[in-house]
Amino acid sequence: MTTRPQPLSPMKTGVRGLCPRCGQGRLFDGFMKLKPKCEACGLDNAFADPANGTAFFVNCFTFILVAVVVSAWIEIAMSPSLWVHLFVSLPIVLMVCVLPLRPLKGWLVNSQFFYKTRRGKIVSDDVAPETATPVADKG
Ligand SMILES: [Zn+2]
Repeated sequence: MTTRPQPLSPMKTGVRGLCPRCGQGRLFDGFMKLKPKCEACGLDNAFADPANGTAFFVNCFTFILVAVVVSAWIEIAMSPSLWVHLFVSLPIVLMVCVLPLRPLKGWLVNSQFFYKTRRGKIVSDDVAPETATPVADKG
C-alpha cells in the first residue's frame, strides 16, 4: 500500500517562494516573475494566474491600513512640514507596498495549486452539458 504525499501548505511554501508541489524548487525567476517550471520536480507553473490578487491584497490591507493610517496619524498628531512626509511617510508607503508583493504572490499561486482552482467556464444552455464547449465571454 502506498501513501499519498501530504500536500504542502501554501503558507509555508508560497510565502518562502518555493514550489507548491515539492517545496524544494524556487517559484520565482527574479522579483515577481514566475519560473515556467520547477527545477526540482518539473511542475509546470502554467496553472498559476494570480491576476491582480497580489495588488488587491496589498492595497486593501497593507497600504490602506498601515500607510494611510500612519501618514494620517503623523499629520494629525504632529502637523510636520511636508518634507517630513517625504522622508518618513513615503518610505513607509513604499516599504509596505513593495515588500509584501512577493510573499503574497507566492501564497496566492501556491493556494491555486493546493485548492486545485481552475478558470471558470460558461456553458451554453442549448447544448447538452457533456458535449458543451466553453463559449466566449460576451460581456
Ligand atoms: Zn517542485
